[in-house]
Amino acid sequence: MDDIFSAASNRLIIDLSALADNWRMMAKISGKARAAAVLKADAYGIGFEPASETLYGAGARDFFVASVEEGVALRPYVPEGRIFILAGMWPGNEKHFFDNDLVPVINSEEQLAFFMSTLSERGDYPCALHVDTGMNRLGLTPQEALALANDPVRPASFSPVLVMSHLACADDQAHPLNRRQLDAFRTIADAFDGVEMSLANSAGVHLGPDFHFDLTRPGIAVYGGEAVNDMPNPMKPVVTAEARILQIRTVKSGDTASYGASAQFSRDSRVAVVAVGYADGYHRSVSGGGVTLRQARPSGAYGFLHGQKVPHLGRVTMDLSLFDVTDLPENGVRAGDYIELFGENIAIDDVARAGGTIGYEMLTSLGQRYDRAYVPAE
Ligand SMILES: *Cc1c(COP(=O)(O)O)cnc(C)c1O
Repeated sequence: MDDIFSAASNRLIIDLSALADNWRMMAKISGKARAAAVLKADAYGIGFEPASETLYGAGARDFFVASVEEGVALRPYVPEGRIFILAGMWPGNEKHFFDNDLVPVINSEEQLAFFMSTLSERGDYPCALHVDTGMNRLGLTPQEALALANDPVRPASFSPVLVMSHLACADDQAHPLNRRQLDAFRTIADAFDGVEMSLANSAGVHLGPDFHFDLTRPGIAVYGGEAVNDMPNPMKPVVTAEARILQIRTVKSGDTASYGASAQFSRDSRVAVVAVGYADGYHRSVSGGGVTLRQARPSGAYGFLHGQKVPHLGRVTMDLSLFDVTDLPENGVRAGDYIELFGENIAIDDVARAGGTIGYEMLTSLGQRYDRAYVPAE
């Protein structure tokens, strides 16, 4: 760890070995299906370059990103990989697909028509077809997809390399929509005989072999987040976020602290003032009862320091947060120490839950103020 890193106020320790292990585990659970890796939003905030090189090294060959810009940014790191662009192609961005060997996911009849018009000029080019089986977000309707599959005058040059759909409720294993989407997708699979099929995200992989088809698309699980509700998370934490304590304050019983006098003390206390706030993706809502958002929760997030969980106090502000360190040994904690916000000792999803959100949002909103250190994959 270099000087800048040891001088940093906030830091992320990103364990690429855990990332590789998590992907291998998802690939193993995917059984006969190949596992892709979903790298949208700068690889869920951890960085395209380290994430893609690590996952390619672990064996991933298929990658999904949101936009063509992300695809162009990713291409240099996985020159041999296949990159799918989930948002698809539209007039004006087609050149970037062809120049960078990016595969558009076709999400609508309009995108299909435009893609076909580009083919008439340049000939065959791979694409994926997204069919909506119940999410009602992106994709051709099943009727449109079946009509396309059975169209006798469909140009021979139109040959999707993948047909995909996305599950709406995979995190809730008992939800009846899972089975309905599966049945609809099977009908589509029959119509596109011989084309590779893909249905499952991380949570979908855990729904079992029926949902795996040819290619799975795990994202959050690879980054160590929870995919399935009410199930112990089997993945290794990848990201540990730490912030620096700037000052230890002593307050008296009866005092208050933070905006709105939202932290109230019923005993003499010691408070760690920490250099992290909502501008660092430590969301204001993790303040818990200190913020009247949604239903107030009695306690907000916890940090971790010198072997102990310490509760957050008051409101998270833009750059600063308070933690109650009264129960730590008096000389055990001092200005300059790091406090863990989430990672090895505090599950990211526990912090997310305190803020009424999900690990995905925590990871993708970490911002630019952390120094990032990567523990290399073996
Ligand atoms: C983001 C995304 C995934 C990955 O989902 P996770 O829940 O992170 O595993 C898979 N497929 C599509 C279409 C997505 O948008």
